[in-house]
Amino acid sequence: RGVSKFSTAVAFEEPITPPVQIDYTQLLINGQFVDAASGKTFTTLDPRTGDVIAHVAEGEAEDVNRAVSAARKAFDEGPWPRMTPYERSRIMLRFADLLEKHNDEIAALETWDNGKPYEQAANTEVPMLTRLIRYYAGWADKIHGLTVPADGLHHVQILHEPIGVAGQIIPWNFPLLMYAWKVGPALACGNTVVLKTAEQTPLSALYVSKLFHEAGLPPGVLNVVSGFGPTAGAALASHMDVDKLAFTGSTDTGKIVLGLAAKSNLKPVTLELGGKSPFIVCEDADIDKAVELAHFALFFNQGQCCCAGSRTFVHERVYDEFLEKAKARALNRVVGDPFKKGVEQGPQIDSEQFEKILKYIRFGVESGATLESGGERFGSKGYYIQPTVFSNVQDDMLIAKDEIFGPVQTILKFKDLDEVVQRANNTRYGLAAGVFTQNIDTANTLMRALRAGSVWINCFDIFDAAIPFGGYKMSGQGREKGIYSLNNYLQVKAVVTPLKNPAWL
Ligand code: NAD
Repeated sequence: RGVSKFSTAVAFEEPITPPVQIDYTQLLINGQFVDAASGKTFTTLDPRTGDVIAHVAEGEAEDVNRAVSAARKAFDEGPWPRMTPYERSRIMLRFADLLEKHNDEIAALETWDNGKPYEQAANTEVPMLTRLIRYYAGWADKIHGLTVPADGLHHVQILHEPIGVAGQIIPWNFPLLMYAWKVGPALACGNTVVLKTAEQTPLSALYVSKLFHEAGLPPGVLNVVSGFGPTAGAALASHMDVDKLAFTGSTDTGKIVLGLAAKSNLKPVTLELGGKSPFIVCEDADIDKAVELAHFALFFNQGQCCCAGSRTFVHERVYDEFLEKAKARALNRVVGDPFKKGVEQGPQIDSEQFEKILKYIRFGVESGATLESGGERFGSKGYYIQPTVFSNVQDDMLIAKDEIFGPVQTILKFKDLDEVVQRANNTRYGLAAGVFTQNIDTANTLMRALRAGSVWINCFDIFDAAIPFGGYKMSGQGREKGIYSLNNYLQVKAVVTPLKNPAWL
């Protein structure tokens, strides 16, 4: 039982015991772990089984008020915006050292709460979190303003000041990376933060935030509220005392939070939203490499990536070869308990996503696409889904238009470059695109024609801290990571004083 043609691994009858214990389940407000004002808790579940992992304090509007007050006080009166940027940087660097020291426990917590392979969490994601914190620690003492000559009669200084209290709302698919993308730049710039984690994955942010305090973060600078979107999330987005909002999640929720920000105090908003990214395999591509990367582009993280290469466009001359190999690769994908060595794919996050993905697979079959592999649940418990490949997919099918957010690869055939550009861009999204070709002219043409915030050529999902990320069209507003994130968290103040002896007129 549990063994599948998809894998040499098994979805274990008895899941492996995670090598970590859960220490923190309360809200983190003003440097203290506290219960929700209502005393309510909610459960966070193990996606391998659906069993309860922990009862977590459920923050609501009153708790968001408490957290925002703490962040406000820490910003208006506390040391964080007032200490030297070098001192801020040192606290962040000490935090990064602690992350490195506790890498494996953090990864285990993330795998337990999210279902992603432990090897992925331990070898990639926690190290990327550490890298991002160090990257932004490095920026803390390099953020400074300008002086401009202007009319020669005035001394003009442009100050770059922290914006104030940042409200940040994150999703469940990469809880720690989303944490780093939000908290890193906000704190480096001297702001204070209220972070609302996703209700599916509240645990890892609490754990690492405790380490941040151990590293010397003053109380009130970083407050973490676990809870649900329409209560805690909406209270944060509409709070009058929050100066900036950063949101990552679905496009529909992005519209809601943008509206809440507009209706309250018109706080500026950055949005990282959904996608339906094309992955284009040209006739001159290295097919074996393209197959492997197209597979990775879609199936990585159980297909739960905003930038997943979820429309695989393949040139008609190489389509049959590509399809055969893509199908074989999906059939070889190792699915199983994410704590087991060598497992490539764990369970989906929860029953809601699991049901949604199976529904889209049914839509695919009903609309006439060819089911090449998978299509069913994997094992008998938890939220595992077989790696699924559809061929003969047409642009107007729902599986080619909607974000499925699961292990479902859709393969489409194209004839020429103009056609594939038009079809690739024919979506409300514009987050990312992949291009596979060995011809530099084709690469240059596609790179410019594709309307997407990231274009990966002969590679995919390259996410260094220094590379900006964000969407065109309904995939978002603004950019995160790299130097671009800093501007999201800075105010610009022009200060003008007359010059007594204008020297240059
Ligand atoms: P979601 O929009 O349901 O939830 C995201 C966050 O918003 C959660 O913390 C949730 O509690 C909160 N939320 C929900 N309703 C809210 C409301 N009314 N007011 C305020 N907050 C609310 O998205 P999800 O299902 O958790 O995440 C998956 C989505 O996130 C996908 O569409 C994916 O593409 C997107 N995503 C985008 C990026 C990116 O960088 N562009 C990265 C990761 C995920």
